[in-house]
Order: sequence, then C-alpha cells, then structure tokens
Amino acid sequence: MTVALHWFRTDLRVQDNPGLAAAQQSGLPVVGLYIATPEQWDAHDDAPIKRDFWRRNLQALEQALAALGIPLLLLQVPRYRDVVPLLEAVLPALAVAELHCNLEVPSHERRRDEAVAALCQRLGVRVQRHLDHLLLPPQSVLNKSGEPFKVFSPFGRAVRALLTDHPPSVLVGQALPTLPALPQRRALQALDFGTGDPTWAQRWPAGEPSAQVRLLAFCRQRIADYKLARDFPALDATSCLSPYLAAGVLSIGQCWRESARWQEGNGVFSWQNELLWHDFYKYIMWHYPHVCRHLPWRDDVEHVPWRHDAGDFQAWCEGRTGIPIVDAAMRQLLQTGWMHNRLRMIAAMFLSKQLLIDWRWGERWFMQHLVDGDFAANNGGWQWSASTGTDAAPYFRIFNPVTQSERFDPEGRFLRQYLPELAGLDDHSLHAPGAVRPAGYPLPIVDLAFGRERALAAFKQSPGADAPSY
Ligand SMILES: Cc1cc2nc3c(=O)[nH]c(=O)nc-3n(C[C@H](O)[C@H](O)[C@H](O)COP(=O)(O)OP(=O)(O)OC[C@H]3O[C@@H](n4cnc5c(N)ncnc54)[C@H](O)[C@@H]3O)c2cc1C
Repeated sequence: MTVALHWFRTDLRVQDNPGLAAAQQSGLPVVGLYIATPEQWDAHDDAPIKRDFWRRNLQALEQALAALGIPLLLLQVPRYRDVVPLLEAVLPALAVAELHCNLEVPSHERRRDEAVAALCQRLGVRVQRHLDHLLLPPQSVLNKSGEPFKVFSPFGRAVRALLTDHPPSVLVGQALPTLPALPQRRALQALDFGTGDPTWAQRWPAGEPSAQVRLLAFCRQRIADYKLARDFPALDATSCLSPYLAAGVLSIGQCWRESARWQEGNGVFSWQNELLWHDFYKYIMWHYPHVCRHLPWRDDVEHVPWRHDAGDFQAWCEGRTGIPIVDAAMRQLLQTGWMHNRLRMIAAMFLSKQLLIDWRWGERWFMQHLVDGDFAANNGGWQWSASTGTDAAPYFRIFNPVTQSERFDPEGRFLRQYLPELAGLDDHSLHAPGAVRPAGYPLPIVDLAFGRERALAAFKQSPGADAPSY
C-alpha cells in the first residue's frame, strides 16, 4: 500500500494547511513527517525559547493528527544536508507515492527542497510544494514592468487588489496505515530541542486552539483600537500572535480572513497592513536571496564603517546602555522572548545609528532570543532600521530614543515595569535620568547628539547613500 507524506516544517498545524490538505485529497492514507535538525538550528541562531515552542507545538500537533488517524513520524539528522540521505532510506521504506510540503522562503530551505525534489524524481515519488506563509505566490505580485516591488506601499496595494478569499481547507480522517518499524524513528522526547523553562509554556501556550483563542480575543477586544494603541508598549494592544505565525501554528490566511470578519475600520485595515509587512519581507527574501547571506539589500551602503565595539554591544544586549527605553526594551526581550514592535525599531536604530554598531550583530542577538524569530521579518526589520534595506528609513531619519520614550510611554508605565531601579523617578526624569540617576543605573554609553552626527558622517562617506532606496 502506498502513502501520501506531508512533511511538516514551519507549518505545525492541521487547520488551513495546504500541503496536508493536498495529501488528504490524494485519496491515499496520509503520514506526517517532521525532521529535527539541531545543528542547523544552531547555525541559524534559533533561540532556545523558540525551539521549546516548536517542541510543545509538535506535541500538540501529534495529538491533533492522531485524532484524524494520521501518524506523525519523527526523525532527526544534524543538518539540512543530511536530509536527502535520510529520505533516500525512508521514502521507499514507507512506500511514499506523493510527498507534500509547504514552501519556505530562505535560500537554505529552498536549496534543501530542491535537493529533495531531485531525489524524489529519481525515486519516482511525486513531489508538490504548496503556498503557505504568504497570502499570494511571490511570482504573482509584480509591478507594471513585470518586476518585483521594492517598496512596501505599492506592494500592499497590489496584494489587496489581487486577494480573493480562498476557503480554509477541510481535513477528512483516513484509515491509519501500518508504519514499518524504521530504525531512524524517534519519540518526541528523543529529539534535541534543548531544555525549556516552565514559565515559557505559561506565557506562550502551545497548540492551534491556543492560537485561535488568541486570534479571536484580539479581534473581539483590541483590533478596533489597534491603529491608535499599537505603538504604546505599556498597553496590551497588539495580537502577540507572531510566535504562532512564525512556527506556522496559525496561517497568515487564517489571520487575514478572521480580521476581515470584524467591522471594517481603521483598526482592521491597519492590522492587515502589518500582515502585509510580514508578507512583504518574505517576498523580498524570495526575490532578493542575497539578503539571506546577511548582505545589505542596497549594495551602495555596503561600505558604511560599522563599529565592532564588543563592550558597547554587550551593554546594549544586557540592557545597560543608560538610555531607559532601550534598556527596558532589551530586558523585555531577555525576560519574555518577545519585544514590542515600536521598541524593536527603537533598539535596532539605537544600535545601528547612535552606536554605529554593525546591524548584523543585533540581528543575530534578536534571533538568538526571540520566540517569534523569523529570518525574513527580522532581517527586514533590521535592514529597515539600519537604512540598508528595500523600503528602509532614509539614513538621516534617526529616532531620538528619549523623544520616542516620552511620546510612546508618557507615564513611564513600561519603563517602570522593566527598570524597577528607576521606578521612583518622576514621569519626566524617568526618560533621561541625568543628575537624578539612582546609584547603580549606568550613565549613557553615548551622547545622543554625538552618536547621531557620527552616524550621519559615516553614511555620507558611503557612496550612494544619498540615493533613494528604490
Ligand atoms: C528590528 C526588528 C526585528 C523584527 N524581528 C521580527 C521577527 O524575528 N519575527 C517577527 O515575526 N517579527 C519581527 N519584527 C516585526 C514585528 O516587530 C513583530 O512581528 C511584532 O512586534 C509581533 O508582535 P504582534 O504579534 O503583537 O504583532 P501585531 O502588531 O499584532 O501584528 C500582527 C502580525 O503581523 C506581523 N507583523 C507585524 N509587524 C510586522 C513587521 N514590521 N514586519 C513583519 N511582520 C510584521 C507579525 O507576524 C505579527 O504577528 C521585527 C521588527 C523589527 C523592527
């Protein structure tokens, strides 16, 4: 008896899963596959908190699949390059007639999938990659000259115009195939996800029902005010769905469709715009894979004389820069594995502009600590902040972190939560403590005006930095 195999990667869900649905529709018994690649995760800087989130979601997925009569085969190899030899043994042993998976955008994953497709061709296994992670195929969204968009706004308008609502896929249970006893087969506990912290599970509960409850609660309670409230880190105003989207516990289509059911208005439009940013950075990575090598998207800023100051970088990492909003942001990251979007922009711009430290150092640190670490979104966000990306902030637009702090945390509620040593300061001094700085809280590691001038001079030295970014 032959089977259809769905290979789960960053799509740890049964609902609205195009690859799994196609395997179901094949009429063959379906088997799920997950291949852990711990050395590859190390090389990609995947954070311990994110690996723990994957493990817990995989456990939930295993149960959800079992309820549908679909067994999940768990395997492990060190790296992507070991996947082909593994599948060369496994596909014939399982009598796989069709292999389904959902498309992934970064170039390592694309190369891995090309190699697997070549293997399948050799073995006579039909292979199909399905669109997931993006609302539309990246090749289908082009400008009037047939080129990929390089700027977000026209990209967003084009996607909105092209979008047609496609119904969520429906899964039907299938008879359980008897799996051969494969020597490579592992139990979930035997996969090397590393050790987790019990508080992570409370903060980021696993499983599709948790993700869906979160989505629904956000749409019911907060989406209407999203446009006005989203920039204030002390408010619980955003969805906190990014870890679920990054691990594919929830699909971008589910988010889009659910939000569309709520009253049309600025909040819904504005939240959908953020979903489009998620798409945009994947689209950029697809069309411009050189960003996967951590190269600046704009080659004319390749020669900015970045500083590689390990001491200043360490102070930034640990939330000891003496600039309260930056320190509170970095401590939020260390304590929760997540950081509010406004703070990601402030912290990233402070590192790459006022400290003039290579943005790739910050990109890596974020990836090593984020529960929602997503290569495309993280790279895009860092390149935006450092003015090296497609739709980047122009290099002379440099946030003043103190002004940002006064504007987006006027009463200092967020600052007091993460910087208890400053909690006693008045609302005004809190943003830039100066002479009333309590003992133990560091002096600013850089004078903001000096840092700004240094960054402007460094960018001016780089040929072409004045040119528009598109
Ligand atoms: C320097 C920097 C690094 C970032 N790194 C990541 C990352 O590794 N992973 C990640 O998912 N997002 C990243 N972002 C984008 C954004 O900060 C987070 O997606 C957002 O804060 C997640 O919170 P939320 O789920 O409450 O978002 P919401 O405001 O509720 O938005 C809904 C969803 O839209 C997507 N989204 C929102 N804003 C953006 C954005 N600017 N770019 C791309 N997608 C967006 C996310 O999937 C998010 O879950 C980064 C931004 C910056 C400036």
